[in-house]
Amino acid sequence: MEGHEPKGAIKNQIDKMERLTEEDFDKLIITMKRVRRSLRVDSMDVFKCSRCGSIYHTKPKFCGSCGLELF
Ligand SMILES: [Zn+2]
Repeated sequence: MEGHEPKGAIKNQIDKMERLTEEDFDKLIITMKRVRRSLRVDSMDVFKCSRCGSIYHTKPKFCGSCGLELF
């Protein structure tokens, strides 16, 4: 189940938050950060080259991979 539905796994952890150890809670936070980062790849905060699919976190004028001008 882990890795399949990352948000669901996090919700399960949060449901039993009061029973988590400090160590498990730290792991949960790390997992949440990692999942959030992976989900944000498809968010509005990144720019994707329409030709080659390269992803940029700040918008470049031209794609560094294929040279396409990005608008
Ligand atoms: Zn490109």
